[in-house]
Amino acid sequence: MTNLVLFGPPGAGKGTQAEILKKKFNLVHISTGDVFRYNIKNKTDLGTLAKSYMDKGQLVPDEVTIKMLNAEVEKNAGVKGFIFDGFPRTTAQAEALDKLLATKNTEVAAMIALEVEDKTLILRLLERGKTSGRKDDADEAVIANRIAVYYKETAILKGYYQKKNKYYGVNGEGEVSDITLRLATVIEGL
Ligand code: AMP
Repeated sequence: MTNLVLFGPPGAGKGTQAEILKKKFNLVHISTGDVFRYNIKNKTDLGTLAKSYMDKGQLVPDEVTIKMLNAEVEKNAGVKGFIFDGFPRTTAQAEALDKLLATKNTEVAAMIALEVEDKTLILRLLERGKTSGRKDDADEAVIANRIAVYYKETAILKGYYQKKNKYYGVNGEGEVSDITLRLATVIEGL
């Protein structure tokens, strides 16, 4: 299996690139944010709980997120691999992912990070907020909080994967197709 963690702050382009890469490399894309939004839309208990955090730009608690991610992976037995988008976001989540993949005799092949400047992120998120219907994209204070949470709780994962020689940084600025090429070069070299 080839399991990739697509990494980067909110607005880095993880979702856009994951949609392209999953077709190119025949992988299953799991976006924890999308799964939460699906649950919100369908008014499940998980959705109600997740919404109370997401609307403020805070992380959904690890226990809930890890349980949900495990269930998504279990639903996809026999696939070639996964692109994890928006997960892991904390050290506890990264450890849980390692454990889960180990039970399937596999592991994370690489964390590939999209590197984008903060000012580009804010512009992209506000632009997306005009059409995405996402409450957390429409409010500049919530966007600022999401970026702050990224630096406080998530950015540390760069070191987690660097220690394992699995971290790859890619320039996430510019044209979508150029960024895809940069990512594909890393993946093909794994
Ligand atoms: P995203 O779609 O990745 O931008 O995520 C939107 C929101 O969903 C985040 O701001 C969090 O509130 C929640 N979320 C998504 N993934 C996770 C995760 N791995 N851990 C905790 N919260 C998450």
